[in-house]
Amino acid sequence: MKVFMGKVLKIREVGDSVLNKISEEVDINKINAEILDIISDLKETLSYGTGYGIAAPQIGINKRIIVVGAKKENVKYNNPEEIPVTAMINPSWKNISDETDFQYEGCMSVPVIRGIVERYKEIELTYYNEQGEKIIKNINGFFARLVQHECDHLDGIVFLEKVKQKNGFSTLENIKKYNLRENI
Ligand code: ZN
Repeated sequence: MKVFMGKVLKIREVGDSVLNKISEEVDINKINAEILDIISDLKETLSYGTGYGIAAPQIGINKRIIVVGAKKENVKYNNPEEIPVTAMINPSWKNISDETDFQYEGCMSVPVIRGIVERYKEIELTYYNEQGEKIIKNINGFFARLVQHECDHLDGIVFLEKVKQKNGFSTLENIKKYNLRENI
């Protein structure tokens, strides 16, 4: 289903050095056609894929832009919530509390493998929207995890690096088969 005006681009996978670079900030006073085209492509590529978020490096562009969006029924996490499709330019966050939780994550740049990652449960998110307006909001749970994962991409970090637990990796098939989600 084609929803946005952008192109579906090939997702870069681990091993591609574009995923390990620090991405550059977007000049908020110059949200031009090039930036809006990147956002359209990110939206189109995300809507075509299986993930809940995408960062510009995943389509080969080292700029600080992410798009998130998840339909509740498609989310495989505990306590999912509906997240409207949202583009975030120069996103950043800080934790509101020290509380963390551990859940399996996946990534469109990492075929098959899921890994248990510790993330802050509540964060204050700051970003600029496509109109260049600054947005600050507190978010939690799955949405907060998703933002932390996508922002990591902008710093050249793939979630695999953050899996610290012994036996912290699985395939999605085995998570279902052995009901691993309950054992976290
Ligand atoms: Zn990812």
